[in-house]
Amino acid sequence: MTSIKTICVYCGSSPGRLEVYSEAANLLAESLVAENIQLIYGGASIGIMGMVADRVLALGGQVIGVIPKALSHKEVAHPNLTELHITHTMHERKMLMAELADGFIALPGGIGTLEELFEIWTWAQLGIHNKPLGLLNVAGYYDDLIRFLDHVTEQQFFKPRHRQMLMVESQPAHLLKRFLSFQHSLVEPWLGKDEI
Ligand code: AMP
Repeated sequence: MTSIKTICVYCGSSPGRLEVYSEAANLLAESLVAENIQLIYGGASIGIMGMVADRVLALGGQVIGVIPKALSHKEVAHPNLTELHITHTMHERKMLMAELADGFIALPGGIGTLEELFEIWTWAQLGIHNKPLGLLNVAGYYDDLIRFLDHVTEQQFFKPRHRQMLMVESQPAHLLKRFLSFQHSLVEPWLGKDEI
């Protein structure tokens, strides 16, 4: 079993159309604080991003934001975080978030969220890290994506063991429970460490 002290949450810089997305953001925040897990995220005060951070802070939890300078106005850098790191580039932002986190969870979001999830998943596939990855499929938001990923696997462009790296749940508490019992040794990277 691994020790999870920090989790990076990828999610929308928009609130989305349905109330259920913000409800899931609040539930995830509550689960993180209940397990004494620090939130790592993109540092914005808007959309689902702002909601998760606000709820963790309101419950007395810790939030580390990482935002590139150029985006700090557009996404309105959150003013009350435990720590806010300002990076030069988007790549530095993602790298720092990845380094600080013991695991990664995607809530509903747009292409920024998808890009972040897919990047960290491809890094796991390559054996660059072996941290847990989770997708919160709130109200079926990701159903079509999950179906497509199964198609990619079935068409043999994706190995089943890499497909299985992504834990999919609809309830934040269920996903966090799986993270807390995650065993690094179960993940077998595509390439050996000395091949990278
Ligand atoms: P979105 O899911 O599109 O609302 O974006 C969520 C977060 O992803 C925001 O903080 C965006 O700044 C970030 N983002 C947008 N595009 C990219 C990208 N190409 N690479 C990494 N992050 C991005």
